[in-house]
Amino acid sequence: MSTLKNLPPPTGGYRGRFAPSPTGPLHAGSLATALGSWLDARKNGGQWLLRIEDLDAPRCTPEATGQIQAQLLACGLYWDEEVIHQSQRQNTYQRALKRLYGLQCLYYCTCSRQTIANALAKLGIETPRNQEMVYPGTCRPATLISDPTESFGQLQRAWRIALPPNCHIEFKDLALGSQSQNLNTEVGDFVLRRSDGLFTYQLAVVVDDAEQNITHIVRGKDLLSNTARQIYLQEILGYKRPEYLHLPLVLDEHGEKLSKQTLATQINTQDEKHSLRELRKAATHLGLQNLPDGENVTIAEWLLAATHSWRS
Ligand code: GLU
Ligand code: ZN
Repeated sequence: MSTLKNLPPPTGGYRGRFAPSPTGPLHAGSLATALGSWLDARKNGGQWLLRIEDLDAPRCTPEATGQIQAQLLACGLYWDEEVIHQSQRQNTYQRALKRLYGLQCLYYCTCSRQTIANALAKLGIETPRNQEMVYPGTCRPATLISDPTESFGQLQRAWRIALPPNCHIEFKDLALGSQSQNLNTEVGDFVLRRSDGLFTYQLAVVVDDAEQNITHIVRGKDLLSNTARQIYLQEILGYKRPEYLHLPLVLDEHGEKLSKQTLATQINTQDEKHSLRELRKAATHLGLQNLPDGENVTIAEWLLAATHSWRS
């Protein structure tokens, strides 16, 4: 009977995930995302996977990875299957990049941020400080070719995707409704591999979600503006499009998203009482109502009640 355990899940079944970048322990915001995606998976009788997005090695630490896992377990948010670490999957991303190159939709770019800013200034475009610059296509060759000897070698250059004209992506968010983005005018040809050799979040997340057969992506609303890029990559790589649900962000007293940059304090999971208190706060952020508020409720009981009242 033990072989049963190794069978793949039924096709078409719900598969969700939580994909934190381990730059620090969980704070109120990341716990709310974890809880929302866990509840959505459980409500739908699905699997919930944990993927550690530790591509940006200097910012991600094994300590934080350990802390996040311990915090999730303390909150009763158990995951299915083995944890995947993006830092160990360079070859997979490289293969995807090669495929895109073979499809003649990549080109390399040697622009610095300053070069891009100057090119934009010439076009009379100014980018507000907190916004990403729309790449004006400076390095894009007139004809895209793929050179079979190209090794994506050591040269200091980034690889960008060449968007087709009128690259307008529409999708439906399960919470926010119809969304659309014109990738040409709002993003520009975006980077898949940086000049320092790091694969970007956009490429890695799309490849991993597809390889892990993720059907539902439940994550913070701060990532909403990345979704169109990811859908476009799914389309050219021939992947299925998952469902998307973007959750409300937890803001600090200045109205800013909680993050390690704003020195958000980590959640307290020292014992069951504290963990439950954190879960209750997270549930309030997610808009859950009428959950058992007694002193002696266990985490398991509380999570069951939360699952029942999730998005019903
Ligand atoms: N690793 C990303 C983050 O921590 C989330 C990726 C995703 O859910 O798509 O912000
Ligand atoms: Zn360039």
